[in-house]
Amino acid sequence: MDFQKICIQCMSEKPNRDGMCPFCGFDPDQYKQTSYVLPPFTVLNGKYLVGKELGSGGFGITYTALDMLLGRNAAIKEFFMLGGMHWNTFPHFPEMQERPS
Ligand SMILES: [Zn+2]
Repeated sequence: MDFQKICIQCMSEKPNRDGMCPFCGFDPDQYKQTSYVLPPFTVLNGKYLVGKELGSGGFGITYTALDMLLGRNAAIKEFFMLGGMHWNTFPHFPEMQERPS
């Protein structure tokens, strides 16, 4: 599986890296990322490839994700106090690392 071609909405592998996803119609060029969310393609724990933000509430943000070891879709819930901290300046994912597979 080529993780560069993953659609960050449905986490399917697209035929091409750029352009609209043929499976769910998601167009990454139209995606406006909120500043406080994890960027797509962040790898957590060397295992989970983070996709698009699904939603956020007072205490957390939910993301689509791909379990790269099992090749299965997953959901990541990040504990996040809106207005209280920022993952960039106050990292609460000490295990977060980039590990190309
Ligand atoms: Zn898709």
